[in-house]
Amino acid sequence: MDTECDLLVIGGGMAGLVAGSIASMEGVSTIILRKGQSATAYSSGAVDIIGYLPGTSEPFSSPTEGLAVIAGVYPLHPYSIVGYNEDVETENIVSEIIRRAQDAITWLKINLENTITPLIGTFDSNIYPITVLGTTKPTCLIQKTMHSGTLQECEDSTLLFAGIRGYADFNPSIAAKTYLEDRIAIGKPPRKVGRCVIQITPFGKPFNLSSIEIARHLDHEKSIEEIAKQLKKQVDQLGASHVAIPPVLGLRNAVANKKILEELIEADVFELLGFPPSVPGLRLQIALEEIYRRSGGKLLVGHEAISYSKTGNKLNYVTARAPRRELRINAKAFILASGKFIGGGLSGDLSGMHESVFGLMTITGAYLLARDIIPSRMTNRVAISPEGQPVYSCGLSVDPFFRPVREDGVEWASNLFAAGSILAGYDYSTEKSGLGVAATSGYSAARSAIDFIKEVN
Ligand SMILES: Cc1cc2nc3c(=O)[nH]c(=O)nc-3n(C[C@H](O)[C@H](O)[C@H](O)COP(=O)(O)OP(=O)(O)OC[C@H]3O[C@@H](n4cnc5c(N)ncnc54)[C@H](O)[C@@H]3O)c2cc1C
Repeated sequence: MDTECDLLVIGGGMAGLVAGSIASMEGVSTIILRKGQSATAYSSGAVDIIGYLPGTSEPFSSPTEGLAVIAGVYPLHPYSIVGYNEDVETENIVSEIIRRAQDAITWLKINLENTITPLIGTFDSNIYPITVLGTTKPTCLIQKTMHSGTLQECEDSTLLFAGIRGYADFNPSIAAKTYLEDRIAIGKPPRKVGRCVIQITPFGKPFNLSSIEIARHLDHEKSIEEIAKQLKKQVDQLGASHVAIPPVLGLRNAVANKKILEELIEADVFELLGFPPSVPGLRLQIALEEIYRRSGGKLLVGHEAISYSKTGNKLNYVTARAPRRELRINAKAFILASGKFIGGGLSGDLSGMHESVFGLMTITGAYLLARDIIPSRMTNRVAISPEGQPVYSCGLSVDPFFRPVREDGVEWASNLFAAGSILAGYDYSTEKSGLGVAATSGYSAARSAIDFIKEVN
């Protein structure tokens, strides 16, 4: 079967959905292929822009500061690419990089505003949300449900960590102890920290609960009142001003649930940042898909790009396979946003790292060919080095228009662009930059692809 569109995007995580939505909103007919789940849905759901310079332990105070440093130290970082472009004067490189990232993040915030997961945060300062371990991490944007109200400004706050019986991914005692110790260490102890465990019975089951089950349960009317009754008692006993709960406040109704809970227990309530399977990550994935669908784009879930046709320097079509059909999709431009190892954009074996659809050249974070990056040999202590694991920073090398390049530095095809974690030259886990790189490179690749399509039309 044959179909056609102006733009075909391979990958439906943060990068692909941002790119596809921007194109579709500008009237470009767009199809997105998503073969399965994405790292976006596994993420904690807070959008990191840039937390650290790899190898250092002092976080950047703001994304603006971090991007300026990254621009100087890593000119080939996905954030830096837009600045190191022949159209940009040397003295404007840093401001161009910051401007592009700000444009992308502003687009994201505006479009997520009326969805199930609006975001809070600015480029002027990083935020330090608390995790389920009681630690904090620098990030730029948090979901509204993770906002701890007045906690950071409040000198005599009393914080209650509330766990859920039968939910093993959060231990309120450990979180409370770690949080208290960390606050004492920086000389800003809270007035009091407490912990409690409440009981709920999603689907009649008070044990072995998963975050998704709890979130679905809390999406139902009256379930939130059930936990409010128990929490109110604990809040009154401790005199708590704030209540920290694991990230399970609901898949669709989390924002409303937070508000109801705060009114009923008369304290600020916020979600902690947690591990996969992640309800806030899933909320972000669902919200991004809704933005894309509303823009008029077509999303083909369960469709995997498996082969392609190319003539000279031009990609003609991609063939996608779904359980009961094969589809040949002709397009004027293509964006590869297939992620890294969770998404499936990259795979590794004894001959190095491979890009899964087009067999594009892969390079290491140090910009060498990735033939020596062999996952089974990466189990030495390099894995815990402060600079990060080399496997994470390998991927595709791209030109200033985000087109993957060959070994000679020339683009592989004039109409193929790439975005997201498939790009080389950064390690999201040490830098804290994952969803930020995905959103900004998705935005940039879309801009380049739209210009290309307008030119050929
Ligand atoms: C456990 C975990 C926690 C994280 N926490 C955070 C966090 O708190 N904050 C943060 O900013 N970042 C975080 N990250 C990093 C962040 O999630 C990723 O960097 C980001 O989601 C990458 O987005 P992406 O769109 O590039 O790739 P993905 O989200 O992985 O999307 C790739 C998509 O491509 C599809 N695909 C792949 N191959 C094909 C094919 N051949 N045909 C069709 N479709 C295909 C996949 O199905 C998937 O939909 C975390 C990552 C992990 C793993």
